[in-house]
Amino acid sequence: MTTRLFFSLVLLCSFNTAQSAQESSPGPGIIVSAKARAIHEAALVIDTHADTPQRFLDGGFDIGSTDSNDPGHISLDRIRRGNLGAEFFSIWVEPETNEGHFARHTFDLIDSVYEQATRHPDRMTMAFSVADIERAHAEHKLAALMGIEGGHSIENDIHLLRDYYRLGVRYMTLSWSNTNEWADASGDINDPKVQHHNGLTDFGKQIVLEMNRLGMIVDISHVADKTFWDAIAVSKAPVIASHSSARALCNAPRNMTDDMLRAVAKNGGVVDVNFFSGFLDQAYWDASRAQSKERDAAVQGMLAKMRAEGKSVTYLDEDRLQREWTAKIPRPSFSVLIDHIDHIAKVAGVDHVGLGSDFDGVSGATPEGMDSAADLPKITQALLDRGYSEGDIRKILGGNVLRVFSDVERVSREMKSAK
Ligand SMILES: [Zn+2]
Repeated sequence: MTTRLFFSLVLLCSFNTAQSAQESSPGPGIIVSAKARAIHEAALVIDTHADTPQRFLDGGFDIGSTDSNDPGHISLDRIRRGNLGAEFFSIWVEPETNEGHFARHTFDLIDSVYEQATRHPDRMTMAFSVADIERAHAEHKLAALMGIEGGHSIENDIHLLRDYYRLGVRYMTLSWSNTNEWADASGDINDPKVQHHNGLTDFGKQIVLEMNRLGMIVDISHVADKTFWDAIAVSKAPVIASHSSARALCNAPRNMTDDMLRAVAKNGGVVDVNFFSGFLDQAYWDASRAQSKERDAAVQGMLAKMRAEGKSVTYLDEDRLQREWTAKIPRPSFSVLIDHIDHIAKVAGVDHVGLGSDFDGVSGATPEGMDSAADLPKITQALLDRGYSEGDIRKILGGNVLRVFSDVERVSREMKSAK
């Protein structure tokens, strides 16, 4: 078992939770102009991180849902309204409850994404390459991709890594909040009870190179700082941060320092901004940490009580309890999200920033006005308001991620032909 701090970070970072009933959030609304709408509709919009597969698998959620009261961020209807062209669905295996069978749960989550695509062939299609994304876009379908969130899923087995690639997984986050046997994580780096490795082990470096060879994007979100630097040094292909923001604006260990942003720029990669209020707004982060002890005790106490009463406890129960706590902290304004995009564009360059929403994974804690994928056009409006050109906006909305994916495919071809 892990420490309470670890558990607290678990809940903050990625526990699958859904948006609370904040569909009509207070605060000034952003009106999307006809010009912004036209730019947004013409763009290929790519989001690199959504935790929806747990809703598919454990919650019985159908992405075709048109329920306006559904608390989630993602549905085909909301995706269409937000003109989201490609989503990287996160294959995230909670490491405590799945101890001993990480691979099985990884396969189950992968299956859940395929099942949704099978159910909605007219509006959603599995995608495994840049060409697939572009084809889906031309057909007005959501391109569904998959990224594994946490290297523990491979169970220290490089063969399993290759199997995941064959099933269509196109990025892997080297660690989640938990340090695994070959990569240190930011989530428990200060926990003396966890065995750390000073970044990546030799096996971890082998994994990075094998990902390069396969054509699986190396994702450095969640990793400890030293793991980041090791991955940057080893990787032969550009890397991504699939859902991280800027530490200069919000001092959370999951965010990237300016030095890291510059290193990703030099590497040719992209940092996809996380929409979680706690990674965007210092006041939110501080308030969330301040309540963490009381919150964790209350949530865990309630779950223990349910178990003692013989009730089966699912992530939905924890989600509901978590949302009661996140709702106690005021939401930051929409502009904080744009501040992070703007900061990364200024420090790393406009070619190195994108969108990594963390939709359906942040306990409903997003800035005002960002309530689901349907709100993505507001980002285009806000960037126009700050003077960004149409070309630069298209890069941020998806062009940069597509370029990185294309470079990763090229490096893979080169490494395979060199053998
Ligand atoms: Zn995460």
